Amino acid sequence: MAEKPLTPPDLERCQALIITRTPFALGGTHRKRQCDEVPTVVVIEKRPGADGRIGSMSLCPRCLEEMFKKLDKANFTVAKIKRKASVGS
Ligand SMILES: [Zn+2]
Repeated sequence: MAEKPLTPPDLERCQALIITRTPFALGGTHRKRQCDEVPTVVVIEKRPGADGRIGSMSLCPRCLEEMFKKLDKANFTVAKIKRKASVGS
């Protein structure tokens, strides 16, 4: 049984998938798109998931808030992403 490597956290882009519904989508289509925000944290599962492995993903503050409205914060470790302070702007 070949192990597929888990997707590593993307530190440049939030990995949340946002389900969008277009107002006039006939047939009830909804699309998933990846969030465009810059992530500030990596969320790591405390226990292995159904596949027996511990998952992690990078999230921006907004998606983190959304996630913890639906999932129990106690099951995850939230690690802040360290990045160099951007100069200017
Ligand atoms: Zn996001």
